[in-house]
Amino acid sequence: LRSDGDGISDKGGANELYAVLIEDVSDRRHFERMRRDFVTNVSHELKTPAGAISLLAETISDAADDPSAVKYFSGRISKESERLTELVKKLIELQKVQDDDVAASQKSEPVCVPEIVREAISENEVQASAKHIEMRMFFGDDPVGEVAGAGDSAVGKPDGDESKRSLAVTDADAIVVRADAENLKTAVKNLVENAIHYSPEGTHVGVSVKRTNDHVQIRVVDQGIGIPAEAQSRIFERFYRVDPARSRATGGTGLGLSITKHIVQEAGGTISVWSRPNEGSTFTIELPCA
Ligand code: ADP
Repeated sequence: LRSDGDGISDKGGANELYAVLIEDVSDRRHFERMRRDFVTNVSHELKTPAGAISLLAETISDAADDPSAVKYFSGRISKESERLTELVKKLIELQKVQDDDVAASQKSEPVCVPEIVREAISENEVQASAKHIEMRMFFGDDPVGEVAGAGDSAVGKPDGDESKRSLAVTDADAIVVRADAENLKTAVKNLVENAIHYSPEGTHVGVSVKRTNDHVQIRVVDQGIGIPAEAQSRIFERFYRVDPARSRATGGTGLGLSITKHIVQEAGGTISVWSRPNEGSTFTIELPCA
């Protein structure tokens, strides 16, 4: 047997034998392209606020003798720095949930879901009250009718009627899943954050926790701008935004939902969305019971 470059052949023998190695490189190419796109996106996202900061700093030094201009431009500088900080924070979160080594070291501990949801809500209270948005939590119930304020409204209503109370508040401690508590809170917080960001002033946001036979369902419902049907399958992609200008104006990074999806999948669950433009959105996380 000898190697002739194309394979291994038995040139001297009666039979010619070949060992051919075929490697499908399409997956590798696909991941390489994704990695390149990611680096391009990150560079672009970082360059925009960084460029704005340097321009604003130049402008401020030209307007040093005008106190109102200094106040205006320094306000904008701090807004752009907040955007940079938020982006870096989200990139670190994304790295944490995507990196296999880090993911393997993440905890899989019993987590009381209502406790996590309550914390996620309370950590968004300042943003909600700034927009006079009322946030409410429900147990076992679908928040749809309650968020709408009228039992029969279609706001944020996914298919099926699940408006029956199936769990008393006292049973809440029994709603436990196996997950990394800190990550799960991040996942729910991202949904609540978006519900507030993409809703007009004075609306309602509802979060419900419900246990079915072997699953726990967390649902976040808003009465916001909604998501067009054609965009709904793309919103979980990194850096995808329906309206980039609006997302940036509200401090969005385009990373929240992809982080949430990673966390939910890591805990063995699924995430889905129901939405109708100008009516609202409902995000549903389903996790297996511990
Ligand atoms: P962002 O930081 O831009 O909010 P996300 O990954 O959290 O990024 O969401 C991706 C996009 O999905 C958003 O830019 C927005 O267009 C859309 N989106 C997410 N949640 C909602 C919601 N509750 N209502 C309307 N649009 C939403």
